[in-house]
Amino acid sequence: MDHTKINLIVRLQYLDNKIEKLESLQKGLPEEIAALEDDIAFTSRQIDIREKAAEEREKNRQSYNETIDNCRSKIKSFKEKQTLARNNKEYDALSKQIEYEEKEIAQAEIRLQDIRQHEEKIKELQEQGRQLIEENRYDEISEEMMPDDILAQQLKDLKSQVEQKNEELQSIIVETSGEVSSLKKQIEKQRNVVEKDAKRLLSKYDHLKRGNIRNALVKLHRQACSGCNTRVPTNRHTIIVQGGFYLCESCGRIVVHERLFEEAKAEDA
Ligand SMILES: [Zn+2]
Repeated sequence: MDHTKINLIVRLQYLDNKIEKLESLQKGLPEEIAALEDDIAFTSRQIDIREKAAEEREKNRQSYNETIDNCRSKIKSFKEKQTLARNNKEYDALSKQIEYEEKEIAQAEIRLQDIRQHEEKIKELQEQGRQLIEENRYDEISEEMMPDDILAQQLKDLKSQVEQKNEELQSIIVETSGEVSSLKKQIEKQRNVVEKDAKRLLSKYDHLKRGNIRNALVKLHRQACSGCNTRVPTNRHTIIVQGGFYLCESCGRIVVHERLFEEAKAEDA
């Protein structure tokens, strides 16, 4: 068998490892940023809902107050007309209109009272939340118990955290971008070579990688596959030592002699 084929794929693994190492410098920042952004969206949504509800209450309050003012001025004019009433019929008709307006006022006042009570309830719940926070009893706090100011502060903190993490990530990306793009080119070239000369090995390699096995190629270590520690049959050792490979029966990894890794690395020098 042609042992140089295996060298080609070891070289590919070597390059893939290098790029992975560079990406690991990002220290999980992309995932952290995504999680922070989810939190920001959730908090913003909560704040938004509260603001909209407060606006709605304010609008209603204004409209009820206007109704009351209107009714009062009507009552005033009806009362003035009553003093000028020419007969009981006219007087009684005005009394009925006054009565109607008074009912309207009473109804609007009930609605205003409802709004006030609702707002007091909100305040009470938030005070309860503040108390629970002081006592570190976070798991007992419901969404509506979170005080407005703490929610706003939370959003501010989250935004500054995500900004900081983004800056950190950007600087890492900038620092490594040259190396990453040159490695990507090398990998593409290497894959083309492997594709041409060792297609079956490449598909085996890709298959392992897709299965989330990063080290598709491993060293023979103490006569075993160093990926899973299963013993490699003695009759295969010679082939490995000669620069061939063995497909581990247990994990499916490609087992080679460690010399091959050194050779792949030496190509960089
Ligand atoms: Zn194995």
